[in-house]
Amino acid sequence: MLINNDTIIKDDDSFIRTKSEPVELPLSEENKQILRELFQYVQDSTDEEKAQKLNLRPAVGISAIQIGIPRQLTAVIVHEYDKNDEPITYQYMLANPKIVSRSIQSAYLENGEGCLSVPEEHDGFVVRSARVKVSGYDLLTDQNVTIRARGYLAIVLQHEIDHFSGVLFYDHIDPKNPHPDVPGAMVI
Ligand SMILES: [Zn+2]
Repeated sequence: MLINNDTIIKDDDSFIRTKSEPVELPLSEENKQILRELFQYVQDSTDEEKAQKLNLRPAVGISAIQIGIPRQLTAVIVHEYDKNDEPITYQYMLANPKIVSRSIQSAYLENGEGCLSVPEEHDGFVVRSARVKVSGYDLLTDQNVTIRARGYLAIVLQHEIDHFSGVLFYDHIDPKNPHPDVPGAMVI
């Protein structure tokens, strides 16, 4: 399957709003292959040379609906720093990830969010939970996982899981008040 900036479904196509169904576990070979290709996209998209050659837009995550497959499959690669300021990479190939709990505290990206399916910029804070607990099956490690995510990783996971409900990041922005004051929010 060719995944690039031309083949990714954009928000002018109402299919992007389709709800994604959970997949059967253990994963079929077909669903494993989809996850591998999604993961490969994210990996290649941040390699400048490959991204240019293959027409990839840099991303930290992509979900199956964005390549026209309404199944609860998503790949995420986030480079962060841990508590000791050491670089750490969080990477997942997730099937049926679900948010099982979330913090009361909010978080948002100061410069707003972007999405492979959204060519235009949408200015505004996307206020999400600062911490989420996500459970699902991870093909990368071949096990059921519970991810305790905070900050940027938490935002990315919420963004991708939103895709399963057909929700895009700008749905969370109030055009009348795109930069609300959010008391106690983690600003990233
Ligand atoms: Zn997206």
